[in-house]
Amino acid sequence: MKCALVTGGSRGIGRAICVKLAQMGYYVLVNYKGNETEASNTLAMVMEAGSNGEIMQFDVANKEQVQQVLNGWMEKNPDKVIEVLVNNAGIKEDGLMMWMKDEQWDSVVQTSLGGFFYVTRIILNSMLLKRYGRIINVVSLSGLKGLAGQTNYSAAKGGVIAATKALAQEVGKRNVTVNAVAPGFIKTDMTADIDEKQMKVLIPANRFGTPEEVAHAVGFLATPEAAYITGQVLSINGGLYS
Ligand code: NAP
Repeated sequence: MKCALVTGGSRGIGRAICVKLAQMGYYVLVNYKGNETEASNTLAMVMEAGSNGEIMQFDVANKEQVQQVLNGWMEKNPDKVIEVLVNNAGIKEDGLMMWMKDEQWDSVVQTSLGGFFYVTRIILNSMLLKRYGRIINVVSLSGLKGLAGQTNYSAAKGGVIAATKALAQEVGKRNVTVNAVAPGFIKTDMTADIDEKQMKVLIPANRFGTPEEVAHAVGFLATPEAAYITGQVLSINGGLYS
């Protein structure tokens, strides 16, 4: 059975990606950190989309937990193959660098960049053996351009962008592609405190994007036909930055 793992699939962009991959026929593993109710709601939407899946709790920033849960799942499910991995889990803890606490730096870098490493290295092994895989990393405009007040977040996402390009070169021969999508302002819990009316004047499309618009791009990169696209960063930002 063909499976897709989406980290941070319980809400926002991750949820829309779970639904998109379900529409594409994937059995979806909906990872979440703490919000089991919302993860279950995502799973219900996966089923409504005509597929199936399961919820899977682990903190991507916790190396031991990632290993224990993912290795345990693979041992119990030898018939299931994870073909698509979407590293979407991420947090922001904004603040000017001169006031930034260790915890703000560590948690943001550890979730996006550490999480990418801990999860991907486990899933990658079976993709290389099967000689097929699609890895898609959700990064950010902030990781391309840098945004004031987000040195931690920009560094984390910029790190994932560089790792995307490096890993793409390592695994290209085995038919495993590694790409990133870089959203601008997308309407989710993460941007709930940002005033769209005030910000949209800066965006050529004159609005925030939707999680479904990001999921559409992820779905495209996940298709078998996207085999010759690797090491790329696709911006989904309404023309805000290119
Ligand atoms: P969101 O609505 O805040 O949702 C975050 C998701 O990540 C939740 O499912 C959450 O799980 C999960 N998560 C957080 N930390 C985790 C951890 N340590 N381990 C496992 N799961 C974890 O965020 P979003 O806006 O959808 O963002 C999704 C991704 O897109 C992030 O990487 C973010 O940086 C990126 N992004 C977002 C925007 C935007 O405008 N929204 C723009 C650019 C990039 P729980 O529900 O269990 O808490």
